[in-house]
Amino acid sequence: MDTKTGKVRSALVVGGGIAGPVTAMALEQAGIKATIFEAYDGPAENVGGGMGLSPNGVQALDAIGVGDAVRAVSTPTEGLILHSWNGKTLARFGTLPGIDPTRFVMRAELFGALRRAAEERGIETVYGKRIVDATEDADGVTARFEDGTTATADVLIGADGLRSTVRRLIDPAAPAPQFAGTAGFGAMVHVDDVPPTEGWMHMTFGKRCFFAWQVFPDGTGIWFINLPVPQPLSVNQQRERGAAYWLDHLRQLCADDNTPAARMLAATEPETMLFAGSAENMPLPTKTSRVAWSRGRLVLTGDAAHAPSSSSGQGASLAAESAVELARCLRDLPLPQALARYEELRRPRVERIIKETARTNSRKAAGPVARVIRDALLPTMFKLAKPESRAWQFRYPIDFDAPVA
Ligand SMILES: Cc1cc2nc3c(=O)[nH]c(=O)nc-3n(C[C@H](O)[C@H](O)[C@H](O)COP(=O)(O)OP(=O)(O)OC[C@H]3O[C@@H](n4cnc5c(N)ncnc54)[C@H](O)[C@@H]3O)c2cc1C
Repeated sequence: MDTKTGKVRSALVVGGGIAGPVTAMALEQAGIKATIFEAYDGPAENVGGGMGLSPNGVQALDAIGVGDAVRAVSTPTEGLILHSWNGKTLARFGTLPGIDPTRFVMRAELFGALRRAAEERGIETVYGKRIVDATEDADGVTARFEDGTTATADVLIGADGLRSTVRRLIDPAAPAPQFAGTAGFGAMVHVDDVPPTEGWMHMTFGKRCFFAWQVFPDGTGIWFINLPVPQPLSVNQQRERGAAYWLDHLRQLCADDNTPAARMLAATEPETMLFAGSAENMPLPTKTSRVAWSRGRLVLTGDAAHAPSSSSGQGASLAAESAVELARCLRDLPLPQALARYEELRRPRVERIIKETARTNSRKAAGPVARVIRDALLPTMFKLAKPESRAWQFRYPIDFDAPVA
C-alpha cells in the first residue's frame, strides 16, 4: 500500500475465468501488481460450448488493448431471430447502427486468448489454489488456500464466479444464486440437412422448451435448449440420466415445434453433449437482502458480484466491464473510496441488465396460457420498441486513462 496516498500497490486475484485475467491485466496497466490464483490444476482448455460476446464486452477489452486478441478467435454475428413454436417470426434483432456486432466465440478459445494475453504481460497464474479463507490486518490481506499455502497483498479480488467463496468471506449470510426456472443442454454438431443461417442465431419459444440454433457455412452447427424445470437440475443430475435419455426426451419435447431440432438432435454424438445445469442469476437487492460487493480489503467482480441469467448473453461482457472499472478505481483512489466508487459506477447498470434478462428467462419458462399471450404480444412489443431503446446495453465505452473522480 502506498502510505502517502492510501492507494493499493498489489492484488490477489482469485479466479482464472474471464473476470480474473481481465482484472489482472487492467491492474497491471494501472501499475498495480496482480497475481491470479485459480482452483483448477491447469488452464481450462477443454471447457465446451460457444457463447456470445456482446459489443460492450469487446469495448471493455479494447480499453486494455485485448480486444483484437479476442476478435482473432471469434466471429461476428448478424443478430437474433425469435420465432414462435409454429415458425412465425416474432422479432429480428440485427446489429444496431453504430454498434459492433455481437461475436460468437468458443468458450475454450476465449479463455485461451485471455490467458495468453495475461501471460504476454508477465502476469502469473498459480493453479491448484482454491481459496478457503482470508484474514486482514493493517498491512494487507492474506488468502489461505485449500492446500495450506497462503499469499498476501494490499487487496483481494474475488473473481471466483457464481458460487464465489470470496462472496461468503465478505458476508457469510450473502444471498446465494437463485434458480431461474430452466435447465440447459447443448452441442456442436455437423449437419448436412439444415441450411446455414448466414450469421443469424435463431431462437424458438417452443411449446415445451426453448430451442436455439445457428449453422455455419461449413455445415457445423450449434444448438442449445432451455428446458423449463420445476426445481433445480444440477449438471450431475443431468449426467446421471445420460445423453441418450436426454436426446430422446428433448426430441419428443420439441416434436410439435417448427424447428430443425429433430435433425440437430439426431446429428448429436451423445459423448459431445453439453450439460449446463440450471440457469441461475444473482438476486437483485431487496429491502432485507443485498449482496455486499466489498468489505475491508476484499472486493468482488464478475459473476461473483453480479451474474445475470446465463441466457442473457451479457455475463462475460459485464464481467469484463466491471474488471476494467475496478482497476481504474483502484488506480485513482485510496482503497475505501475506490471500492465505494466502483460499486457506485457499476451497480445501477448491472442490476438493470439482470432485471431485463430475468424477464427474458420467464418468457422461456412460460406455461401454456402465458405462451399464447407471449406469442400474441411479443411482435407488437418488439415493433413498438425503438432499436435505440436496446442500445444502452451494448454501448459502454471505457476511457481507461480518464481519471476516476
Ligand atoms: C450455459 C451458459 C451459457 C452462457 N452463455 C453466455 C453467453 O452467451 N454470453 C455471455 O456473456 N455469458 C454467458 N454465460 C455467462 C458467462 O459464462 C459468465 O458470466 C462468465 O463466465 C463470468 O466470468 P467470471 O470470470 O466472473 O466467472 P467464471 O467464468 O465462472 O470464472 C470463475 C473462475 O474462478 C474459479 N474459482 C471458483 N472458485 C474458486 C476458489 N474458491 N478459489 C479459486 N478459484 C476459484 C473457477 O474455477 C473459474 O475458473 C453463460 C453461462 C452459462 C452457464
